[in-house]
Amino acid sequence: MSEKNLEDLDSVGKATAEKLREAGYTNIMEVATASPQELASIVEVGVQVAAKIIASAKESADIGNFVTGVDIFEKRKELERITLGVKSLNDLLGGGIQTEAITEFYGEFGSGKTQISHQLCVNVQLKKDEGGLNGDAIFIDTENTFRPERIIQMAEGLGMNPQDTLKRIHYARAYNSSHQMLLIEKAKEIAKEYPVKLLVVDSLTAYFRAEYIGRGTLADRQQQLNKHMHELLRFSDVFRASIVCTNQVSAKPDSLFGGEINKPIGGNIVSHTATYIVYLRKGKNDRRIAKLMDSPDLPEDETVYMITQEGLKDVS
Ligand code: ADP
Ligand code: MG
Repeated sequence: MSEKNLEDLDSVGKATAEKLREAGYTNIMEVATASPQELASIVEVGVQVAAKIIASAKESADIGNFVTGVDIFEKRKELERITLGVKSLNDLLGGGIQTEAITEFYGEFGSGKTQISHQLCVNVQLKKDEGGLNGDAIFIDTENTFRPERIIQMAEGLGMNPQDTLKRIHYARAYNSSHQMLLIEKAKEIAKEYPVKLLVVDSLTAYFRAEYIGRGTLADRQQQLNKHMHELLRFSDVFRASIVCTNQVSAKPDSLFGGEINKPIGGNIVSHTATYIVYLRKGKNDRRIAKLMDSPDLPEDETVYMITQEGLKDVS
């Protein structure tokens, strides 16, 4: 198979190829499968030119062969799940957080995104017959809300050794969105050394939201977020790991981004790349509500759970 370069595509010069690569389109197949609108905004060309680039990529791409549903079925049997330790949430998500996929939790401040992130860093370490993957976790923290104390409480709640549990969580604080993206490279190195089965980015979007202010830079932001999401997806593929990311929404319309109430930021880019999208909110009397908003294989559904000292729990 002779791999062509992006520069070989119609209407793609050096500068455009560079923009494509920066946005995470590193090969012809990725361009061939992009949407004209997405590509147009990323390389700052008209939609018609973008369509031409995509058409050219489709011609050049090694489209590959069809396989049967049986092959895919067999391959999907290899996917694993991390238990949430709560029956209602596991049921909502088809058994837990799936590997080789991105699961996005979004919700307002205080809705439980960080608590779920912590719980999964503990649960991934459980043995397979306990619902875990006997794996390590990576936690990329952008809001300085990682709390070892919470990990200790949750580990104790499951009868695990707290110190051993903390040792299997590889933590990094990200200082801005570029740093956040660079940390994925570093995460790959850790995943070569340790059996990493979960990568958490909490919050995925906070820096992107803060740094790209004003409509003029919206395309830049989407481009960088797109790149970030694709790198996360690649990580999940290569290491057969689960990716969990959080996304804060505000109860007020976000005028800076022309956002709507309770719409996660990053909009299409994030929601097209995430496989499972879960909306979290507070309910009455300590109850928490999780709603599965989008999934390729599960029904839209809603369930309740609780956050306790020992971690997530079913409502008794
Ligand atoms: P966010 O969605 O902003 O990340 P968090 O995941 O930080 O929200 O959730 C914060 C909420 O978690 C708090 O409002 C509190 O109700 C709950 N919480 C935090 N720690 C504990 C604890 N030790 N016991 C019970 N609930 C807790
Ligand atoms: Mg949080």
